[in-house]
Amino acid sequence: MALVYTFAVIYGLCIGSFLNVVIYRLPRNMNLAFPGSHCTNCDYSLRWYDNIPVISYIILGGKCRKCKAHISFRYTAVEILNAVLWTLSAAVFWKRSPLYAIAVALFCSILICIAFIDLETMYIHDILVLTLLVPAVMATISGIGGNVWSHLIGMGVGGGFFLFIFLLARLVFKKDGLGVGDILLMAASGAFLGWKALMVAIFIASIVGCVVLVPIQLCGKKEKFSEYPFAPFLCMGTVAAVFVTEPLLSWYLSLFAI
Ligand SMILES: [Zn+2]
Repeated sequence: MALVYTFAVIYGLCIGSFLNVVIYRLPRNMNLAFPGSHCTNCDYSLRWYDNIPVISYIILGGKCRKCKAHISFRYTAVEILNAVLWTLSAAVFWKRSPLYAIAVALFCSILICIAFIDLETMYIHDILVLTLLVPAVMATISGIGGNVWSHLIGMGVGGGFFLFIFLLARLVFKKDGLGVGDILLMAASGAFLGWKALMVAIFIASIVGCVVLVPIQLCGKKEKFSEYPFAPFLCMGTVAAVFVTEPLLSWYLSLFAI
């Protein structure tokens, strides 16, 4: 297991570093592989020792080696977040099913990209949502999260429920409350999670969304129903559901099993 954890931390950080490249370049239609990483302020090409996850950020004090421009902590935060989620999926799922543990790690990494890109650009990238189907198929094969039907129903309910809200918002408020990207995202999440965990995901996403957005709405901007990125909450709820659904269900069932 020690080897699995070491792998999860080190590769989690390195892939996290690559996720930053995706988050920055995909919305800007830039090539993901070329040119190599460089300072966005002075174009200084990062040497390999400037590009070690977390460590380089600490050594350089969060500044570019050449022009001393401030480097956003977001890059390091994404690396750490990815490594934490990879380690967590190894800890919780590796012994039951290595395939599912890898699927969860992959799933979390793609969701990190979707969430951060939506936060920055208010746009959910279709290609990223499509790639979620790869871990979804892996999860279905592993048999965790229910049988094939559970995953298919999850996909239908996730997409259908958000399509319903989308149409309702159009009819009642004459506005798009959700984007088409949100609908596709929930269909893909449902396909990965299975229908039970999907319910938990939507529940958590709604609670966190309300806790964060209601105060923002109340305290300032007069504009009601202005647009907020919703994908970060959906991603957060979905990732949380992967880990908490089973303990939550067994706790809930234990209430009736006395
Ligand atoms: Zn620079």
